[in-house]
Amino acid sequence: MTAPGLLPADEHNAALLAHVRPPDWKNPSPEALYDLVVVGGGTAGLVAAVGAAGLGGKVALVERNLLGGDCLNYGCVPSKAILRAARTAYDVQHANEFGMRGTSAMTLDFPAVMARMRRLRADIGRHDSAQRLTSLGIDVFLGEANFVAPQSIEVDGQTLPYKRCIIATGGRPVVPDVPGLAEAGYVTNESVFSLTELPPRLAVIGGGPIGCELAQAFHRFGSRVTLVQRGKRLLPKDEPEAAEVLDRQFRQEGIELHYGATLLRVESMATTPRLIVGVSGGERTIEADAILVAVGRAPNVAGLGLEAAGVKYSHRGIETNDHLQTTNPRVYAAGDCVDSYLFTHAADAMTRICTQNAFFSLGPFGRKRLSNLVIPWTTYTGPEVAHVGLTREAAEQQGIAIDTYREDLRRVDRAILDGETNGFAMIHCRRGTSRVVGCTLVAGHAGEMIGEIALLMTSRLTMSDLARTIHCYPTQVEVLKRLGDQYNKSRLTPRMAALLKWVIARRR
Ligand SMILES: Cc1cc2nc3c(=O)[nH]c(=O)nc-3n(C[C@H](O)[C@H](O)[C@H](O)COP(=O)(O)OP(=O)(O)OC[C@H]3O[C@@H](n4cnc5c(N)ncnc54)[C@H](O)[C@@H]3O)c2cc1C
Repeated sequence: MTAPGLLPADEHNAALLAHVRPPDWKNPSPEALYDLVVVGGGTAGLVAAVGAAGLGGKVALVERNLLGGDCLNYGCVPSKAILRAARTAYDVQHANEFGMRGTSAMTLDFPAVMARMRRLRADIGRHDSAQRLTSLGIDVFLGEANFVAPQSIEVDGQTLPYKRCIIATGGRPVVPDVPGLAEAGYVTNESVFSLTELPPRLAVIGGGPIGCELAQAFHRFGSRVTLVQRGKRLLPKDEPEAAEVLDRQFRQEGIELHYGATLLRVESMATTPRLIVGVSGGERTIEADAILVAVGRAPNVAGLGLEAAGVKYSHRGIETNDHLQTTNPRVYAAGDCVDSYLFTHAADAMTRICTQNAFFSLGPFGRKRLSNLVIPWTTYTGPEVAHVGLTREAAEQQGIAIDTYREDLRRVDRAILDGETNGFAMIHCRRGTSRVVGCTLVAGHAGEMIGEIALLMTSRLTMSDLARTIHCYPTQVEVLKRLGDQYNKSRLTPRMAALLKWVIARRR
């Protein structure tokens, strides 16, 4: 059994396949009618199937490639495993600053980094295994799902009729139609984790989260990395200030950055590709040994027979209403196949909405809405960039007036002690109120810190609640407490200040 991006054929990948696509798998005989059929066995599909089976439903799950989907096999899990190794490499390179000596003799063993990743991925793959799903009462079908009618799907010549269906077919990397790119060869997130040798020079096309994370990781491993970004900055969906911090960090580490740059063509010189990039005022040539394409994602909607099910879709994804119901009222959709947030935790949250709305709502009562979700996200670079709610630009576009509170990490003791002052926290509130509408954190572990603001926003707590919350000293998350203090100070009108002064002066 081969699967895209699952090389080399070693014991770790064999262990992973044994979980997520057992070579000797036989599909079961289908039930006469399923309560729920789930198409796609990534995060969204697994959460849907496990949730519905746990509630006593008869559930079938169809997966055409690997259970666990992108997150386990080609996304979050392998990327975060190698990012961790990259952080260690960086720490060793900078260990001198902390009084360590002799570290310059240490070298990075790239095959060992990748073997560690494959071992950990196989281990985590146990949770998503066909065997575990079967033990939970789920009928697992490995094969391509095709809708043949509004209430039935076909897999490998077998028909699966259903009362409800959740489509969770995810997405795939977009590869631009650039002359010479296919001939020169490139990797995407589906093949980069199969590398066993470090490319001496790597060209990364795309400055979004995937491009940024992998560019920095490979640079820290020792590749000479050049990042080509069509837009004017990195991480276009985040605050410009966050992108600035990352830009500074990347340049300081030695990553070559090209903004406003478009890949025009690739010429293959003997064995190594040469990238011709259009920049303002002309063309630039970039020599590279490998090319990583990370220019965006496209939803998997074609070839599913969605027309037969009466489910509308476009190149942006499956059309749904705010309840995640498609144009076929018995069919719902969640995760990356919907034009929404492309994150594992978003796929999970969306699926819970689908299950609730598909089975437990009575007409309009009890129906959950996508628009009510507060979904944070993090790019796991060093420093991490985490965000929740509106950016300044999004607030402007929506006509929401805001007050902004900002604090730099260089004023936070723990960040100084950790040597991690390259970052900041910024909170936007609805103008003149304490209601938080957005937050950006740039810090070593911003992803761990943003949950506090997500909780604040989900629970409709305020800046005063944040200011009242006692944070441990010394922690980097104290930066949030400082923003709470800033808010309190901003409320101190001259009249109130005069009153307080008067009270203090009269105390004996
Ligand atoms: C490199 C990278 C790093 C990432 N890092 C993070 C991160 O750190 N944090 C985070 O939150 N998100 C991260 N993501 C995003 C995350 O992986 C996705 O948001 C998540 O996997 C979406 O889950 P899903 O179930 O919607 O889709 P997928 O995981 O893509 O699963 C869809 C499944 O459907 C199957 N399928 C498709 N068509 C059919 C069909 N016709 N029949 C049967 N099966 C079908 C596919 O084979 C696939 O297994 C990352 C993504 C990438 C690429």
